[in-house]
Amino acid sequence: MHQPPGRVLIERERIATRVAELGAQLAGDLQRDLEAEGDGLATPNRVVLVPVLTGAVIFLADLVRQMPLNMSMRMISVSSYPGATTESKGARLQDALPPDLAGKHVVIVDDILDTGQTLNLLQRMIAEQRPASLRTCVLLRKDCPRLAPAEAEYVGFDIPPEFVIGYGLDYDGQHRNLPDICVLDDPDAEPG
Ligand code: IMP
Ligand code: MG
Repeated sequence: MHQPPGRVLIERERIATRVAELGAQLAGDLQRDLEAEGDGLATPNRVVLVPVLTGAVIFLADLVRQMPLNMSMRMISVSSYPGATTESKGARLQDALPPDLAGKHVVIVDDILDTGQTLNLLQRMIAEQRPASLRTCVLLRKDCPRLAPAEAEYVGFDIPPEFVIGYGLDYDGQHRNLPDICVLDDPDAEPG
């Protein structure tokens, strides 16, 4: 049995409700952008989601199924928490960004906005390609000081400055499969 090494902060039912709202809101906003362009709706590959591996995968899977529009997905990998640590080590892109985002409606999807370093890096690099629009959607936004300026227009939940696991978020690679979001009480305790 996979016991969460912490207490539940956000139950799965609340996550599901909120993700459905976010998906509908995001899809509606993108749809309006496409309609404003006239032929946008008929043109394939106008919307590109850029999910940040690995933390965003479960959020992404639920989010995109609430978004009834044509889109492609281009996963990218950014490392910021190598190994067993709960502190940020800065953001580093693991592979090249998709090079063809110019003129597209791009949505960065990440699990959590913490120090802001990951999203700051991605937002700057993607903006350089001159997309038609650039949005950022995060499931969680931590109430803590940002080390780099970064905003997200779509936020699932604001949370206190604690280290959380579950629903895609890990501690040392573990616990991503917990269905609820939990606060890791004691990072030094043996993972369950
Ligand atoms: P930032 O660059 O500090 O904003 O952090 C971004 C990344 O750090 C997130 O995409 C997560 O992968 C990881 N991270 C930040 N806070 C937490 C947490 O509380 N639990 C698990 N991972 C976290
Ligand atoms: Mg991440």
